[in-house]
Amino acid sequence: MLEKYLSRVDFTSYEDFYENLKINVPENFNFAYDVVDEYAKTTPDKVAIVWCDKSGAEKTFTFGQLKEYSDKTANYFKSLGIKRGDPVMLILKRRYEFWFCILALHKLGAVTIPATHLLTSKDIVYRANAADIKMIVCVNEPEVVMHIEDSASKTPTVKYKALIDGSKDGWLDFSSGIEEASNEFQRPLGELGSHNSDISLLYFTSGTTGMPKMVQHDYEYPLGHILTARYWQNVSEGGLHLTVADTGWAKAVWGKIYGQWLSGCAVFVYDFDKFVPKELLEVISKHHVTSFCAPPTIYRFFIKEDLSKFDLSSLKYCTVAGEPLNPEVYSQFYKATGIKLMEAFGQTELTVTVGTFPWMEPKPGSMGKPSPGYDIDLLDENGNSCQDGEEGQIVVRTTKKKPAGMFGGYYRDEALTKSVWHDGIYYTGDMAWRDEDGYLWFVGRADDVIKSSGYRIGPFEVESALLEHPAVLECAITAVPDPIRGQIVKATVILAKSYTASEELVKKLQDHVKKVTAPYKYPRIIEFVTELPKTISGKIRRVEIRQTDKDSK
Ligand code: ATP
Ligand code: MG
Repeated sequence: MLEKYLSRVDFTSYEDFYENLKINVPENFNFAYDVVDEYAKTTPDKVAIVWCDKSGAEKTFTFGQLKEYSDKTANYFKSLGIKRGDPVMLILKRRYEFWFCILALHKLGAVTIPATHLLTSKDIVYRANAADIKMIVCVNEPEVVMHIEDSASKTPTVKYKALIDGSKDGWLDFSSGIEEASNEFQRPLGELGSHNSDISLLYFTSGTTGMPKMVQHDYEYPLGHILTARYWQNVSEGGLHLTVADTGWAKAVWGKIYGQWLSGCAVFVYDFDKFVPKELLEVISKHHVTSFCAPPTIYRFFIKEDLSKFDLSSLKYCTVAGEPLNPEVYSQFYKATGIKLMEAFGQTELTVTVGTFPWMEPKPGSMGKPSPGYDIDLLDENGNSCQDGEEGQIVVRTTKKKPAGMFGGYYRDEALTKSVWHDGIYYTGDMAWRDEDGYLWFVGRADDVIKSSGYRIGPFEVESALLEHPAVLECAITAVPDPIRGQIVKATVILAKSYTASEELVKKLQDHVKKVTAPYKYPRIIEFVTELPKTISGKIRRVEIRQTDKDSK
């Protein structure tokens, strides 16, 4: 399958890969027909999804079955009047119906809006009106149902609500709806079919820095994830890949569908509610997962387990992204498993933008090097390209070409789009520096970087230094305004179990930071807390700590 869409599939060096990987995008590409249905035609018994949940239920879906289910689902949506361009929100957690729905909506040329089950009714009202959502399909769980019902009077565009797993007054019964629908869906052609520039997906970002933004992707987007799956996650033909992500976040389409299937690899789905490290390790072992991708926190919990108790011999390759990976976590995971964590950097707006690719030696704490197709630069405050060693904002130059899989803009918000993307440059809002080998090192989000007495201090480095101390379980570094220094460094710390807060410990942690990084970076203020403010996707919201500090002044 890959050969169809790539200039070449074999690379042995970063330089060769960077210069020669070209993704070919055919006209009117539609992932559901051109990839899933194509497999269904040529190799119907090839496994696409291996699914299991906490209760022990297990299911396997072949491409032949996925074609059938997505055709049924497309017919069902069509019977309700859903057509090309119509926005449908999916709150389906890790249920397999998510895959039926997204493929069916692709077949119809409709707009899929995946969302998390943690949305409150206020969040749903905001999203439904921001995107004129026509229909919501969700899991049958009391909280989710309640929030959607509570939002109903303020979401006039939502014509249908459908529940999987059961029926309820005022709701469509999705499961029996698709069972009754025909399993043959005719691909609409010409004006009725999807076009490459149509919106296929709308994602709300994590909201780490402010209100979530609506990121729009087109029908070419899946091809951009060949890079993600084949060359960063290193998935293999016939393998079984697991990316830990709820289907409400873009990370799910990075790791649970497009690039993996294009590369001939099945996806593994573990449908759980609460992350229990031991249980996740057990399913990886039991189902012989071959490649694994997760955010740093998952690995942070893994290394606290005795990994020698689990048979992880099937696991060949592990990748990490979403937040910076502290070198300490890298080395402990390597010590326990012999696997080198391969880090990458990206955003909902992009695909893998900077990564550690299979033929590169990872440098712990570095994100890797620019991805092929991405013209990456670091710019200083005056817009000049940085020298090696100088800190600047990561930007993507798009004058010559927009990378495959890069977003089209923020939906219905031209001003916001323009503010980050103008004159052929997209500003990621993230700061980094480049070493003499071309590797990029994350410094922090531009808004989170601290300026103290003329120095610029990246929160990530100080957080990593603190995490090396056994007393620190989690921490966030932020700026506090200071009349003399402009800003000073503050650490908000969650202590490890056997430690208690004291003046003495403050001093110890400060000394520790002074020892492992440049002394001017040490936190002059340390606050001990039991919880850090996080987004619903689990990222630390430093903006909220700054705001609380400001309000309490
Ligand atoms: P919002 O834009 O609403 O504030 P968000 O940026 O957190 O939310 P995402 O698109 O999910 O939403 O996350 C992308 C961001 O995650 C990047 O801009 C970067 O700050 C961070 N990130 C991703 N990978 C890495 C990495 N390897 N190292 C450091 N940071 C990373
Ligand atoms: Mg962002």
